[in-house]
Amino acid sequence: MEKNDVPALKSFLSHAYQNIFDDKSGAPAGYIPELAIVNPEQFGIAITTSDGFTNEVGDSSTEFTIQSISKAFVYSLALESLGTEKVLKTIGIEPSGEAFNSIRLKDDNRPFNPMVNSGAIACTALICQNNGKEAFETILNMLSEFAGRILNVDDKVFSSESATGDRNRAIGWLLRNSDNFSCDVEEVLEVYFRQCSILVTARDLSIMGATLSNNGTNPVTKKRVVSKTTAVQTMSVMVSSGMYDYSGEWTYRVGLPAKSGVGGGITAVLPSQFGLGVFSPPLDKLGNSVRGIKVCQLLSEHFHLHVLETEDDVTQNIPITYDLREIRSSRTRCRSDNETLEDFGSRVSVLELSGVINFIGSNFITRSVAEEDNKDFVVLSFTRVSRLTRASIEVFRLFFEKLLSKSQRMVVVDKADLKDDSKGLFGDITELIHQHCPCFKNLDKALEWVEDQLIAQYGTCSNRPSDLLPIVEQPLLKDLPNSDLELLQQNLVSIEHESGSKIIQLHDKADGIYFLRAGKVSVMLGEDIYVAGLDAGTCFGELALIEPDAARTANIIAETKVVCSFLSIEAFNKISLINPKLNELLLRNLGLILFERLKQSNSKIVALSAN
Ligand code: GLN
Repeated sequence: MEKNDVPALKSFLSHAYQNIFDDKSGAPAGYIPELAIVNPEQFGIAITTSDGFTNEVGDSSTEFTIQSISKAFVYSLALESLGTEKVLKTIGIEPSGEAFNSIRLKDDNRPFNPMVNSGAIACTALICQNNGKEAFETILNMLSEFAGRILNVDDKVFSSESATGDRNRAIGWLLRNSDNFSCDVEEVLEVYFRQCSILVTARDLSIMGATLSNNGTNPVTKKRVVSKTTAVQTMSVMVSSGMYDYSGEWTYRVGLPAKSGVGGGITAVLPSQFGLGVFSPPLDKLGNSVRGIKVCQLLSEHFHLHVLETEDDVTQNIPITYDLREIRSSRTRCRSDNETLEDFGSRVSVLELSGVINFIGSNFITRSVAEEDNKDFVVLSFTRVSRLTRASIEVFRLFFEKLLSKSQRMVVVDKADLKDDSKGLFGDITELIHQHCPCFKNLDKALEWVEDQLIAQYGTCSNRPSDLLPIVEQPLLKDLPNSDLELLQQNLVSIEHESGSKIIQLHDKADGIYFLRAGKVSVMLGEDIYVAGLDAGTCFGELALIEPDAARTANIIAETKVVCSFLSIEAFNKISLINPKLNELLLRNLGLILFERLKQSNSKIVALSAN
């Protein structure tokens, strides 16, 4: 298997090839003698994904003339070099409902669209007017960029076509007579016949289609060939008129922008996903490759690829919602703060968003936030969101602007860094959001901040941050008789740490327990992985009680100026000898503390899996 082959797609293409190969109906184009003599057995299919991988089967590297498929790409060139308005003045964009070589123009003397011969000839005339003698060179270069390789012309087909092209000349003269263009008809037709005679393979067509699907950037060479607007405009006419007067039925049955040519080629596009190239010379009565149509129809039906068939479910954008009673930040807090959060945690809603958020997805999200207007805070986490569409960014812009006037308290979690030019998910509205809402890069830190706000607003603890919390408040020392407390206190050593200093070093021997009396600490793994936080009124290093001398499992860093009361294992052993009951009580309390943590973890699991 070649490096670029994706097995699933490759096996589907082989299956399609084998099933459709036996259909020998139709006949190669007869009106151009050189085309009539091609081998009708030839059959090749290629798909290039918008990340630049090509899967191919059969005669996918056999060259044949591009014919009418060139019309789509020359139209792109005209749009790109002359601008939409000028091109629209010359060529319409309505389906004609007539054969590709119809000689009828619209009532305003413009050709119906650029995908029928009259429109394509008018389009080539635009390039001739714009590029003079360089016109064909410019066209060939453009098509080569679409294909990602230098393309050549089949001179025999060119001569054959030119020798038999009087109907196209007639169309040219009609256009000139209608003031559609003013340059030399013979020159325009020569360029037109030449552009139809450019040699491509099914593989080339798939890459050319993939370039359109990839908003105008060739996914293989990574070079921008045309603008996104041009790519979209080109695909639009392919949808309405790309398959001659089979276009309506094509859109109904296959639903992919496409263009066919009498050389037996078809290129079809699934926007943002792939370009397909098929080559099989026998044509039906309308001039489309019989097998080509079958391949496209099979692919589209089998994988449900019709552009109008979508499977988005906007409710999936909010898979997880909870409040602060169900899930808390990983900061362990003192008893009174815990009580406050229990009582008032329901005043905070957390919406964890995910997936690609589109126009309606963002409407659903903003509506859900609005429904939470009885809450003090709504935390919107975008950390699992992979992309916001342009429409949803606009919805969020309108939403956050309105928010200002309502003074609703929103907290946003998003990895965007204001200093970073790429601006993450929110693009242009990053600054707006950062101006109007507290923003965090980490959901846990956002929850911690909101908890702090609730505690400040509803908390009953009268301690100021610098006060020493009495040792009796420690959950580990719960229910300790006063005599034991006194004994313990005599053995405690007071230690102070400046903000930023390391209190416990990972892997050091566990030589005692720290009762945090004032300040805050962080539990860190390595130098910069934050695991949890602890506030005054809690303790750390307590596992030393169970397993003295074991290695410490994390670094403990002072976040603020910190005061701890340290109980060494030696002191603890000494007290235990005097009073064995103390040991028992501490172990029971430790069990309760661990049980409390387990309860919180379980509540988190339930909240995260319930939705
Ligand atoms: N060379 C052909 C023509 O203009 C192209 C038409 C086509 O592929 N349908 O007659």
